[in-house]
Amino acid sequence: MAETQYVIVGGGLAAASAIEGIRELDKDGPITVLTSERELPYHRPPLSKTFLAGKDRVEAVRVHEAAWYPKNRVTVRLGQTAKSVHIAKQGVTLESGDRVPYDRLLLATGCRARKLNAPGVDTPGVFYLRTLQDCYALRSALKPGTKAIAVGGSFIGMEVAATARHLGSEVTVLEVGPTVYPRFADPSLSAFFARILESQGITVRTGTRVARFRAQDGKLAAVVTEDGGQIAANVAVVGVGAEPNTDWLATSGFSIDRGGVIVNVRLETAGKNVWAAGDIARFPDPVTKQPRRLEHWDNAQAQGKQAGRNMAGAAEPYTHQSAFFSDLLDITINVLGETDNPDSVDIRGSTDVQAPNLTALYVRGFRLTGAVTVNLNSVDRSAELEKLQKSIAAGTVPES
Ligand SMILES: Cc1cc2nc3c(=O)[nH]c(=O)nc-3n(C[C@H](O)[C@H](O)[C@H](O)COP(=O)(O)OP(=O)(O)OC[C@H]3O[C@@H](n4cnc5c(N)ncnc54)[C@H](O)[C@@H]3O)c2cc1C
Repeated sequence: MAETQYVIVGGGLAAASAIEGIRELDKDGPITVLTSERELPYHRPPLSKTFLAGKDRVEAVRVHEAAWYPKNRVTVRLGQTAKSVHIAKQGVTLESGDRVPYDRLLLATGCRARKLNAPGVDTPGVFYLRTLQDCYALRSALKPGTKAIAVGGSFIGMEVAATARHLGSEVTVLEVGPTVYPRFADPSLSAFFARILESQGITVRTGTRVARFRAQDGKLAAVVTEDGGQIAANVAVVGVGAEPNTDWLATSGFSIDRGGVIVNVRLETAGKNVWAAGDIARFPDPVTKQPRRLEHWDNAQAQGKQAGRNMAGAAEPYTHQSAFFSDLLDITINVLGETDNPDSVDIRGSTDVQAPNLTALYVRGFRLTGAVTVNLNSVDRSAELEKLQKSIAAGTVPES
């Protein structure tokens, strides 16, 4: 029988995990990865944490070492951007004009950093953080005494702020909304995280919108806020969210909603023999059954694996329950299930910023929908998280 030709567009974690999934069931079919980046697949979370802090070597952030790909009959074509898919002819067209035929195709083009529309945003000294190259550039700019501003008080902004402070920078976080971590949907929990950064000497300003970036001698000198204030800055890192890389698919015949490629429970798209996984996939959440798109490491890993298995013939449903982690220096945050639109949030444990340890339970209509934990029992954290996952799946609030 002829070998199946697998093609994966995108070279992030979902792509690397899909290769593992394919190889669990098909040891031979050649796999081609087409990726815009000039790097082998790597983990992005360290880019705002340990790698930015200079604690990791690049090898440590790669999903697999370089030799793993040829050993697994995988050809990674770096610097190749896909332009469109021809579903009926089973081929991907690259910006170079090349056409790459496939039997089974995975779309895993992830996200890009959302651009801030503010005058002066292109001034040297203003950074975004999505890729290794972004991280190298930012890392070389963050020095002791640097005046750094994190624009955006969500995960990237908060993590970069904590890391920059650790590197000796003077740091301010500017968040346009009334609280940091707006996705936690609970003002007291958000205020607790702001206090954690403040306890490290970081200034946190909520309700503050950036009006423009002011340059002097061709370099960033200050961030001007809409209330007319100015904050001196050598470095500003814009962390205002991410946008799925699906524009290139707009005319290829896939169903796309709010930027996400719609997939069914088996992660199949509307196109025959085409799957999607990771940050770009809008999939039915296994707990709520509602369509959802996630920008989580854990989601990219689990979905990539499942999509790979299904490309190789498994046809299994995706049942993994969403989980997200974030580190603020030595504080570990885990987010499980859904934290949007709760009717109530029950915070149990200690919100002492010197020794934080808590679990926040999100309840909607008497059902437990999600949880946020901070420094959950580090001895047996995964067992504790699993228990919480089970409670979320059952919708039952654990006894206090
Ligand atoms: C700084 C940072 C910190 C993070 N920290 C955390 C964290 O603590 N916890 C957590 O859960 N998640 C975190 N995330 C999110 C997590 O890294 C992502 O959810 C994950 O990387 C998604 O993987 P992916 O493979 O779907 O997409 P990506 O990692 O975005 O990879 C997509 C790849 O596709 C390529 N591509 C795009 N368009 C094309 C095209 N047309 N043709 C060819 N190639 C293309 C891109 O260049 C990229 O290499 C973080 C992200 C960043 C940027």
